Amino acid sequence: MTKELKEECGVFGIYAPEGSDVAGDIYYGLVALQHRGQESAGIAVSDIRGEKGNVSIKKGMGLVNEVFSEEDIRLLKGNIGVGHVRYSTTGGSVPENAQPISMNYIKGSLSLVHNGNLVNADELKNKQMYRGQAHYTSSDSEVLAYEIISERLNTGSIEEAVKGASKKIKGGYAVIVMSPRKLVAFRDPLGIKPLVLGRRDGTYIVASESAAIKSVGGTLIRDIEPGEILTITEKGVENDRSGCGGKEAHCVFEYIYFARPDSVIDGIPVREARFHAGKALAMADEVKADVVCGVPDSGLIAAEGYANASGLPLSFVFHKNSYVGRSFIKPTDKERQTAVHMKLNVNSSAVYGKKVVLIDDSIVRGTTMRQIITMLREAGAAEVHVRISSPPFLYPCYYGTDVASSGQLIAAEHSNDEVRKEIGADSLAYLRIEDFRMMTGELPLCTACFSNDYPL
Ligand code: SF4
Repeated sequence: MTKELKEECGVFGIYAPEGSDVAGDIYYGLVALQHRGQESAGIAVSDIRGEKGNVSIKKGMGLVNEVFSEEDIRLLKGNIGVGHVRYSTTGGSVPENAQPISMNYIKGSLSLVHNGNLVNADELKNKQMYRGQAHYTSSDSEVLAYEIISERLNTGSIEEAVKGASKKIKGGYAVIVMSPRKLVAFRDPLGIKPLVLGRRDGTYIVASESAAIKSVGGTLIRDIEPGEILTITEKGVENDRSGCGGKEAHCVFEYIYFARPDSVIDGIPVREARFHAGKALAMADEVKADVVCGVPDSGLIAAEGYANASGLPLSFVFHKNSYVGRSFIKPTDKERQTAVHMKLNVNSSAVYGKKVVLIDDSIVRGTTMRQIITMLREAGAAEVHVRISSPPFLYPCYYGTDVASSGQLIAAEHSNDEVRKEIGADSLAYLRIEDFRMMTGELPLCTACFSNDYPL
């Protein structure tokens, strides 16, 4: 449910062989990916217009527009670059864990941005500590960087080093590595994390989502394939597909919640997937209601799909105040309740005396949903029927989503009727796992947080 479940990270990379500075594009690309991580942001650029490939980097805690001033962007000189927005899934929310990670080694330097979690990070870290590389606080991204560097010492190029490292790492990941003169982008063989390639004239762009490519005036070329290693140099794009063709398991939560609705991931428009989830909910529903509405912003498109299939009128019941600062989102239940009231108001005339179908994308702890239902009842709603455009969230994610234990998940600890009572709804129903097919067709999915069927 909205901000109870934290996004992962967003990555962005750009190569402009014609020589213009790219920091401004990275800034806007990161702003377009801000929904994927709000704790820290960073940019590294390399200037290969001279002989050397000078790398400049700036990163810090906060939103993209809090970390970078206009002057910062002007001073980041370079025509290749990578950027990152972060929500900490591992390693803690501290400045040292902000990305890009930049490391020097005997053959050169690399800067790396990474979205995801490695499930074998501890095992790799122990080996690296034995070699004198990693230290006990190393994040997954540092572990990955050390692995690539260690391979690079015995190989002829950064892309070969990435290939060697990718055979050792396991997990969900989308990574962009900038060696001073190249960009190398790669994605986990299951395709858990999204990564796309785009172009603007002669400039190549790699990003977590196609919306970020569009935001800098580019066009989506294609998804980077699961297991593919893509290298961008002054000669253009080369790829190694030797890691492709195995089992795939794309994160279904990208379609339900994480990704922007104007993004297209693995060939499927996210908006369409959400719309069809709403339709599937309506087709399985027998409730008699007067009006359907969605919780902003996460439930709006599914509500549209529900209205389309049910024939009920879609009403914009909530007014959202977008100007509430992040500082109001506090961790205790009481403070969280206040925050919901600050962010959302109900238009009473839209619900007074009516039986309302209320759509949202998920329920994690249930706290926010309880508040929203109370607000609807205070505004005069006669009945509130909650429909969730995902199945009950029951199991943790090990690939980069911040729900660490089943103890945090209300549906894992309580029956459907107990959850209904807890949130104060007249009825509660979820999308069924088999309905994912209506959202994403034949695309092979990771559904582990709903089904306990982990692909790794
Ligand atoms: S467990 Fe859930 S959130 Fe994690 S990758 Fe799979 S579908 Fe996505």
